[in-house]
Amino acid sequence: MALKRYRYRAYPTGGQVRMLARTFGSCRVVFNDFVIERQRLYRAGLHKDVSFAETARLVTTLAKQTPERAWLGEVSAVPLQQAVDDASRAYRNFFDSHTGKRKGRRMGMPSRKRRSHRQAARSTANARFKVLDTNGSRWGKVRLPKIGDVRFARSRDLPSAPSSVTVVLEPDGTYWVSFVVDEPTREAVPAVKVAALDLGLTDLAAVVSIDPEAGGTTREKVTNPKHLRAAQRRLSRQQRALSRKEKGSANRTKARIKVARTHRKVRDLRADHHHKLARRLVTNHDVLVLETLFLVGMGRTRLAKSVHDAGLGNLIRLITEKAESQGRTVLRIGQWEPTTQTCSVCGTPGGKKPLSIREWTCGGCQTRLDRDYNAAVNIMVAAGLAETLNACGPGVRRTLACAVGDEAGTHRSEAAA
Ligand SMILES: [Zn+2]
Repeated sequence: MALKRYRYRAYPTGGQVRMLARTFGSCRVVFNDFVIERQRLYRAGLHKDVSFAETARLVTTLAKQTPERAWLGEVSAVPLQQAVDDASRAYRNFFDSHTGKRKGRRMGMPSRKRRSHRQAARSTANARFKVLDTNGSRWGKVRLPKIGDVRFARSRDLPSAPSSVTVVLEPDGTYWVSFVVDEPTREAVPAVKVAALDLGLTDLAAVVSIDPEAGGTTREKVTNPKHLRAAQRRLSRQQRALSRKEKGSANRTKARIKVARTHRKVRDLRADHHHKLARRLVTNHDVLVLETLFLVGMGRTRLAKSVHDAGLGNLIRLITEKAESQGRTVLRIGQWEPTTQTCSVCGTPGGKKPLSIREWTCGGCQTRLDRDYNAAVNIMVAAGLAETLNACGPGVRRTLACAVGDEAGTHRSEAAA
């Protein structure tokens, strides 16, 4: 396991800014009180008799009981504890570097923090801070005790629950939240079967699969089955009929019941289709890679209805649940990876493309690319599986991402060369 930092720009509200300012100020005060007290002990020759823990208690718990420092009780206690921990660590580093226990340059004696510096307040998991579940939204929220839910721009996903969060005010006036996450370290290329899915509206999913041990690759597009499409057509016909019936009439009631019945049927058929697809994918692969869809954002656009109809959120949930119960891994990549724009074969950026463009020729390597398969290969690479992909041999990207018919053309030109 390795500790990794994830930093996001934060946008606290006016009230939160005021509360954060008090927290920063309080952290600075206890840090400085700690430093002043240790300096006093040092000058008095008592620094070996009084432990850091005792000084920490003096400047936090005991200080709160005095009239001059009573206001320390108004902010969360954990950032204060972290501030004195920082101060004692600074002292330990100072002593260790002077006694030779610590390598590298000699550390200076810890000095007081000034207001003009970068301001920070750290909370650990025992402060019960919480990253709220805002899956699918470009905004994240972290709940901090005595401050509230602070909004941040979720430029990428957090891989797991963080062990600490630091709120930072930079000298330029910008706020940041920085999470520490314990991440499993990526070891040598695992010989596993991997599938990457590009979920869409035109087809339900484009799936590319690799099996590095067998050196094999497969790909498929999953569309909605015929009976589901037929039921969907019947539903829209019935809805049109319903809208033509007179309000309050018996015929309207009959039409409404018909629509409701077909609605349920469409829902059941779709759920069944999703269950079967999820089961098949999870059974046949060790790792599944999915894109985090911007479902909330899409729900506000013209595509809203199709997104709802395709039930992509439900499919993602089913895959995740089944994978969990069978011990398979699901990797989610961020929603801002340029999966549909870049050529997965050579990396040439192709620019934004409207949904109607289903295939195009890459200007870099001349591969005729299939939009969905190309996106699926990019999703696999974005999940950090480039090495696993490469293990399937050269040309694997082209085989997986090219449009139907391109392969033959490639062969001809290679034969001619
Ligand atoms: Zn290319």
